[in-house]
Amino acid sequence: MTETKNIGQSVNDSLEKIQTTFQLQKNNLLSIRKTSVKDRKKKLKALKAALFAHRENLQNAIYADFKKPAIETDITEINSTLTELKHTIAHLSEWARDEYVDTTLTLLGSSSYIQYEPKGNTLIITPWNYPIYLSLSPIISAVAAGNAVILKPSEFTPNTNKAIKKLLFEIFEEKELAVIEGDYTVSSELLKLKFNHIHFTGSPAVGKIIMREAANHLASCTLELGGKSPTIVDESANLKDAASKIVWGKYINEGQTCIAPDYVLVHKNIQEKFIAQLKQTLQERFGADAEKIKSSAFLARIVNTKHFGRIKTLLNEAVSNEANVEFGGDFDENDNYISPTLVSNVSKDDEIMQEEIFGPILPLIPFDNIEDAIAKINDKEKPLALYVFSKKSKNINKVLQETSSGGVCINDTLLHILNPNLPFGGVNNSGIGKSHGIWGFKDFSNERGILKQHLPFSAAKLLYPPYTKMSKFLIDFTMKYL
Ligand code: NAD
Repeated sequence: MTETKNIGQSVNDSLEKIQTTFQLQKNNLLSIRKTSVKDRKKKLKALKAALFAHRENLQNAIYADFKKPAIETDITEINSTLTELKHTIAHLSEWARDEYVDTTLTLLGSSSYIQYEPKGNTLIITPWNYPIYLSLSPIISAVAAGNAVILKPSEFTPNTNKAIKKLLFEIFEEKELAVIEGDYTVSSELLKLKFNHIHFTGSPAVGKIIMREAANHLASCTLELGGKSPTIVDESANLKDAASKIVWGKYINEGQTCIAPDYVLVHKNIQEKFIAQLKQTLQERFGADAEKIKSSAFLARIVNTKHFGRIKTLLNEAVSNEANVEFGGDFDENDNYISPTLVSNVSKDDEIMQEEIFGPILPLIPFDNIEDAIAKINDKEKPLALYVFSKKSKNINKVLQETSSGGVCINDTLLHILNPNLPFGGVNNSGIGKSHGIWGFKDFSNERGILKQHLPFSAAKLLYPPYTKMSKFLIDFTMKYL
């Protein structure tokens, strides 16, 4: 594998390319719309085969972007995309079928059904942290539903973007699926165009811009955002198991995961023991000392110097306000390296407890009782994910009842994203709308309600003017059943 130390940036595609690609797809909409489920499944099967064929190329590309270990690319990018593909291919015929619904008394004589029609021109904007999965997963839903797609991947993963383009162009023509590269100025130009649907994955701050721009054309939009996902570890939890799963969820991808445990709320009576368990797990997994951890082949790097500086400042500010670095705290700016770090005695007012960390630093906050932990969560915006480690169903149920979040894992981390039978997405500040599986398909479809009258006579005709005693009797009779 080639050592590429620094991180480049994509070159912006021209305005002319943006406009001609959009127009090309607009002119082709009807023919995509008319494709059968069989045609769409054929494309998805080709995408599946291409993922296997391009596996090594994708691993190398993402390694060149931020030194993500090849095995992690398999686990978190290729495997998860294949899971989504397999599920969609298996269920598309059933999802895309017209769905007949019941008829009410007033509508006797007619039948009603839902047609899933494609939304049309769609735009998918993605972030850099899981550049393969987060680009291909919405593409799978969009193609399954019969849409034209423009993908605008993050400018911070130029090598992966190139590899994704190569793969996609073996299967799709630009008039059905195109990739436009570039930074926020390119996004801004794209957002001026009259897309029918926008699927955005990224930060809440940019999500607000996307929604404002979508409003100009009243385009529907799905916002897959981020935030501070809390983890509760109560007194009854199996600490070894909790440490093992939290360390995995936090430090995979060097903490640059939208649903990573952002901070841990740990019962005050077990905090010390739990920190010791976390340290032991980190040493077993990445190395016994700072040097060995730095040379571990299982840790990626921070994507660019901007984010490296941001995360360093978050830790420095907390430490200057008397936070304790319990483990790690090593930085190397020549390599955008930050060691897995545990930090305690953090104040709720520190910036590290205000903004999404999105890096390998884990604050531990003690709580007195479950009510206290819940209050701390509810004091913040609704998170994308919430994790609870406990053997007490009373505590687990209380957390589920009294908090809100996009998704939840009980006694584990991250895994809910991998089940395509579950909707994935946030709530309010962590997102609007749901992706994956049938939710992804519906997201890219207009659920068109259709009523078909079978005979010239219909029950509703009895209620047309001129209104008579008979009309009054009939409406009174009908309303008795409501
Ligand atoms: P970002 O919001 O900075 O960028 C995301 C995309 O938006 C990029 O393609 C970028 O070029 C574009 N963009 C940036 N500024 C823009 C602007 N002003 N106008 C239009 N487009 C603009 O996010 P990021 O740094 O790439 O990714 C990290 C964020 O994404 C975190 O908040 C993380 O939690 C979130 N995220 C969410 C999910 C999810 O599934 N909910 C998944 C991964 C990441």
